[in-house]
Amino acid sequence: MTVVGVDMGGTNITVATVDDDHRVVERHRTATPAGPDAVLDAVVAGVRELDAGADAVGVGVPGPVADGVLLTAPNLAGFDHPVDVAARLGAALGLPVVAENDATAGVIGEWVAGAGRGARFLLGVWLGTGVGGGLVLEGRPFRGAFGGAGEFGHVPVRQGGALCGCGRRGCVEAYAGRANMEQAVRAAVAKGRRSILPELATERGKDRLTAGVWARALEREDDLAVEVLDEAVSALGAGIGAAINLLDLDRVVLGGGIAGKLGQPLVDRVARASRRHTLVPDADRTFALAALAAAAGVVAAAALARAATLTGDHPA
Ligand SMILES: [Zn+2]
Repeated sequence: MTVVGVDMGGTNITVATVDDDHRVVERHRTATPAGPDAVLDAVVAGVRELDAGADAVGVGVPGPVADGVLLTAPNLAGFDHPVDVAARLGAALGLPVVAENDATAGVIGEWVAGAGRGARFLLGVWLGTGVGGGLVLEGRPFRGAFGGAGEFGHVPVRQGGALCGCGRRGCVEAYAGRANMEQAVRAAVAKGRRSILPELATERGKDRLTAGVWARALEREDDLAVEVLDEAVSALGAGIGAAINLLDLDRVVLGGGIAGKLGQPLVDRVARASRRHTLVPDADRTFALAALAAAAGVVAAAALARAATLTGDHPA
């Protein structure tokens, strides 16, 4: 079966053919245009450009999804109203199309083809601009009663704590999301704290603190970088501890920019931080680094389309 995975990101749209062993065979990338019509046209053009004909298409989208409809996507221009991504792409391509929130798709991808293989109670945590999450429970992707399950970034870990991008306080993301970590650094620097983080970003020609900038500052033991990362680890540990006490997970997979850069040592630190909060000892619980790396989005979306097609789950 030839399955196409699409990663509809805020910066790029990636379209790829993925084989039965979850390997990317052919991949195209294009800058994300503005507006739903242009974005969907770009996806259709990308799928048609692939050499092999597709049997099904999976699309990972950066926002909440209900029945193939992308409800809103703060990082995509013009997606401030529901867009029926699956049905519109399905009609244009004449193929079954499955659309899924990218964080949920990511955890399903890791579960099928990556570091989540064999897990029955899996939490995936994605460290990016924000903090995303997804769940597989009892061997099935778990979306909750209204599609809102797995919003790990907005699990509160400190009452009345730091302000989160969602407008609430004390969420995991308010401490461990890249945007919030950067804000904490800029606020401290504005108050006179010294840090090499801003200079490192400028040196590399970046207007934001990228995962690479963080990794370099931590290597050089920049006090503020260490402090802000400690806070992030502590918040992730508390959030994951809460998830474990609630759901008795057997595996936690950590991925995303800074997790990829800092690797297993970061995963081990987060695991230790979470153990401070867990009630039941976890001899067989494992914490792993996401394995699909750069191709995760398309591989995950393709895996989802494949699974949906095989089970007759919900393709159009
Ligand atoms: Zn929040």
